[in-house]
Amino acid sequence: MALKTDAVVLGAGVNGLAIAYELCRRGKSVILADASVMGAGASGSCDDMILLQSKKPGILLEMTFRSLELFKALTGDLPCDIEFETRGGTILIEDAAQLAVMEDFVASQKRSGLAVEIIDAARLRRLQPHVSAHVIASTYSADDSQVNPMQLMKGFMLGAQAKGLRYLSRTRPEAIERRAGHWSLRMTGGESIEAEVVVNATGAYANSVCRLLGFELPIAPRKGQVLVTEQLPALGETNVWSAQYIVSKLKPELAKSSAPGAAGAAARFGLGFAFTGTHNGNYLIGSTREDAGFDKATDPDALSLIAAQARKFFPVIAQAQVIRSFAGLRPSTFDGMPFLGEVPDRPGFFMAAGHEGDGIAMAPITGRFVADLACGKTPEFDATPFRVERAMRPQGAAHGA
Ligand SMILES: Cc1cc2nc3c(=O)[nH]c(=O)nc-3n(C[C@H](O)[C@H](O)[C@H](O)COP(=O)(O)OP(=O)(O)OC[C@H]3O[C@@H](n4cnc5c(N)ncnc54)[C@H](O)[C@@H]3O)c2cc1C
Repeated sequence: MALKTDAVVLGAGVNGLAIAYELCRRGKSVILADASVMGAGASGSCDDMILLQSKKPGILLEMTFRSLELFKALTGDLPCDIEFETRGGTILIEDAAQLAVMEDFVASQKRSGLAVEIIDAARLRRLQPHVSAHVIASTYSADDSQVNPMQLMKGFMLGAQAKGLRYLSRTRPEAIERRAGHWSLRMTGGESIEAEVVVNATGAYANSVCRLLGFELPIAPRKGQVLVTEQLPALGETNVWSAQYIVSKLKPELAKSSAPGAAGAAARFGLGFAFTGTHNGNYLIGSTREDAGFDKATDPDALSLIAAQARKFFPVIAQAQVIRSFAGLRPSTFDGMPFLGEVPDRPGFFMAAGHEGDGIAMAPITGRFVADLACGKTPEFDATPFRVERAMRPQGAAHGA
């Protein structure tokens, strides 16, 4: 017999869980189904940052501001500690060319209301006493924050289950059909489900679900590899990134490797520097941005580059033990915007995928936004930039056809 429900959310990553939680809060009956288990996707293999500073002025920055407010409320509302902390963030600047680009970028962010500034080397060293002598300045924002993604998912799961969520693991749809005004899903685990609303929140895998309905979206995996150190005493006050990645996006002609003697390999792996201390004192050191398909293996060459880059910015890290490495698949889109919205001609079928490197930071606002749309309510942000129509194509057609 079919399980009947108001909504089925596909994908128990941070976004599927945030949406399921919000729908349950609104009194909907919800089934959350994952092809594997909670956190099997990018949300269980990522860094922990709620990063405002990396974003250009615009709707993603505004939504991340809102998400930050929602995180503060969630720390009290969710039934477990999500390890939310606001330590602030610094983006390290290595030379005058990077400084000029970052000064303009920071000025544009300030005009958008972000509390961010450029600080000189002396002030940086008070925040980060171990930073390398070659770093000439940095940005500083007191608002950059962090959260433990596994705890966040657990919090959403427990909060939603307390309001009636049914969670099915190790099952995915093998057929999705529109029948008599509802969606009918035949699942690989043998279940059959009838629902008014279906939400596709399957991250980098979302296009495989779209194909079951005869259309495609340009959502692709972008791999990131990360090293994890042993627990260490705090090395500095803030979390840290390098300006190189932002500069390379804003001024590609200035792009150059930050890993000594390995420019080609660093470019091949899309190396950028991220350095964050977790609640437990382990440091997460990343990361790469690779278009490498669905292969989640780590690569010794990439991990060596990440380690060399960390030693370049923080020579003291050479004394730390690396205890683990992992790779995750960011769900990337062609224009850097997630797909959030109802699919044309498929009433009640919603997309919520494609957050690339911002899915943790944006999970609370994504949950609100998609739940509003699914409940027929106008969301608090303009839905136009996220519409599926901007890149949808029939299954098998070339992109742009
Ligand atoms: C190295 C790295 C560092 C990152 N750092 C940050 C950061 O600091 N801050 C930040 O905001 N973001 C960061 N991100 C990005 C963030 O991890 C992702 O944007 C986010 O986790 C995506 O969440 P999601 O729920 O959309 O997808 P996922 O977490 O990938 O979840 C998708 C789920 O769908 C399931 N699934 C797949 N196919 C099916 C199917 N057919 N049916 C049902 N279920 C299915 C999968 O098993 C999986 O559990 C990072 C990512 C990486 C890789």
